[in-house]
Amino acid sequence: MASESNAAENGGVEEGATEPETALETARRQLDHAAEYLSLDQRIVERLRYPKKVHEVTIPIERDGGSVEVFTGYRAQHDSVRGPYKGGLRYHPEVTRDECVGLGMWMTWKCAVMDLPFGGAKGGVAVDPKALSADEKERLTRRFAQELRNVIGPKQDIPAPDMGTDSQTMAWLMDAYSMQEGETIPGVVTGKPPVVGGSEGRAEAPGRSVAIVTKLAREFYDHDLEGTTVAVQGYGSVGANAARLLDGWGATVVAVSDVNGAMYDPSGIDTSSVPSHEEEPEAVTEYAETVIPNGELLTLDVDVLIPAALGNVITEENADAVGADLVVEGSNGPTTSTADATLTERGIPIVPDILANAGGVTVSYFEWLQDINRRSWSLERVNDELETEMRAAWNAVRHEFERRDVTWRDAAYIVALSRIAEAHEARGLWP
Ligand code: NAD
Repeated sequence: MASESNAAENGGVEEGATEPETALETARRQLDHAAEYLSLDQRIVERLRYPKKVHEVTIPIERDGGSVEVFTGYRAQHDSVRGPYKGGLRYHPEVTRDECVGLGMWMTWKCAVMDLPFGGAKGGVAVDPKALSADEKERLTRRFAQELRNVIGPKQDIPAPDMGTDSQTMAWLMDAYSMQEGETIPGVVTGKPPVVGGSEGRAEAPGRSVAIVTKLAREFYDHDLEGTTVAVQGYGSVGANAARLLDGWGATVVAVSDVNGAMYDPSGIDTSSVPSHEEEPEAVTEYAETVIPNGELLTLDVDVLIPAALGNVITEENADAVGADLVVEGSNGPTTSTADATLTERGIPIVPDILANAGGVTVSYFEWLQDINRRSWSLERVNDELETEMRAAWNAVRHEFERRDVTWRDAAYIVALSRIAEAHEARGLWP
């Protein structure tokens, strides 16, 4: 995982997945589960189990050596009742149609829980980006943009970076699209470099939202951040930003990790002195006096555990050993459904990914607004507005949590699904 590769409003159980459940199965299970709490028109729920459209395209590119290779690309558009489709584009050998559909559904729920005027989509190309030169990647992206040209756009569907794609990929995509349209249209993608219409604060946003909801959750359970002990798995875009902010706000970060293991210091780590994945990849343990395995980090006796590396790391095998009082999901899908049930039984609350890491798509929304208005915002404004949006989403979820006596995850899905269903009811289901 490159640091930029996930700089996206991505969603899904992916890297390191051990759970047999696919992203599509997870998305459908969560939909059905949330629907049980709401008296919804079953026709709407049935509709939401399926994507509106899935575009499949073939992308021939000339390799540097002169040969031609053909790749398959997808864009799954799940639901747009609340606004244009929104979601990442990933370049990964295991990209499939169903994965895009499932992850696109997750984006629908994520945008709705944040009350953003977007629906959900996901796309990608089944290719190993590491096997492509920069020129080949550019040719692939431009050709993919051309193939998707009629189905994306600032009012239709707005891609963003995801695994294997980054701000440069988005700049190429925006350029290819704009060349065809005959005018510069920055709002067709988000996650661009600021020089071509990207937003300040975009890269830091998912980690910032994780830190904000951690603070709000601790307050909810009557604790200050001051003195709160935190363990963070993964020290990349999400993990390092969350850890540093929490450290700066008074928490004691006792463990952080990368793929090689975890740095552990019960008296507190100076998070600014540990290089993030982007600053110096996989170097956390080189700076550590005490190293513990990643698995042990998950079981530390801390106030807050933030998994921020992979999906499916809290599983049936280790859920009984989790020692934290609160889990805040920084990565997508870090808790399997069986582990979720175990933690719930043990009384350990989990703040779900679709709320906790939604700062990414929220600042993407700010980027889109800036592009449409041709006016950029200061970093201070981006961070202030992100805080406002996170508090609003937290309060909406908290309301359902208290009113219905459900888990935080159920409460978040209830908020999302009711908003989507209400919009469908108001607009009417065109059978
Ligand atoms: P990143 O590539 O910047 O960092 C990932 C970190 O995880 C690195 O420190 C890496 O060393 C560590 N890691 C990798 N394999 C590991 C392993 N087996 N055990 C422990 N640590 C391991 O990635 P990121 O952008 O911070 O994304 C992390 C997670 O958050 C992913 O699940 C991603 O889908 C999700 N996410 C990212 C964003 C975003 O915009 N960056 C938004 C929403 C969700």
